[in-house]
Amino acid sequence: METFPVEEILCVRCARLGKTCCQNREIYLTSADVGRIAAFSQRHDFTEWRVPDDPAYVEQSDDPVWEQYVFHHEGHKRRILRRSPNGDCTFLGPAGCLLPEAVRPLVCRLHPFTYTAAGLDPEPSPDCPRQLVPDGMNVFEALQLTIDQALAWHRQLYEEILREDDADGWPDL
Ligand code: SF4
Ligand code: SF4
Repeated sequence: METFPVEEILCVRCARLGKTCCQNREIYLTSADVGRIAAFSQRHDFTEWRVPDDPAYVEQSDDPVWEQYVFHHEGHKRRILRRSPNGDCTFLGPAGCLLPEAVRPLVCRLHPFTYTAAGLDPEPSPDCPRQLVPDGMNVFEALQLTIDQALAWHRQLYEEILREDDADGWPDL
């Protein structure tokens, strides 16, 4: 069986298997995410407004804040990161994300936590390959993601979501 250095972050092992959660995903961006990314990248071509690929995603009864503020009120569209034709995120480079952590969309920073406005679920989403987590560690430890950091990002995410009503950039639908 292959062994891994314990200090190696889980995403590096995941990438070695050719897996990444930066492909074929719809990543919601707050208006403030857009400002941070544009300032860093000097790009303005990385957003689009789309209805969810999975129509069931529009129904967010467990998170009324998300349902009310993230989706455009009339078209069920929301602001997401553009993807390349092969499904890769527009900021996915050969060695992973091209954006520093402090600039990445808050949704990306919080992955693989699942959450609603009410709080974080202590169980990670099943996407991360558990078989690659070193013995004695949990998924979050293997990702070097602390609960305190995640709670701060979660708070910031919902503060920014609640400002969506004031945000510039609602599309003409
Ligand atoms: S967050 Fe999880 S699924 Fe995404 S690259 Fe890292 S280990 Fe893989
Ligand atoms: S912004 Fe970075 S972390 Fe988020 S999906 Fe794109 S490449 Fe992945």
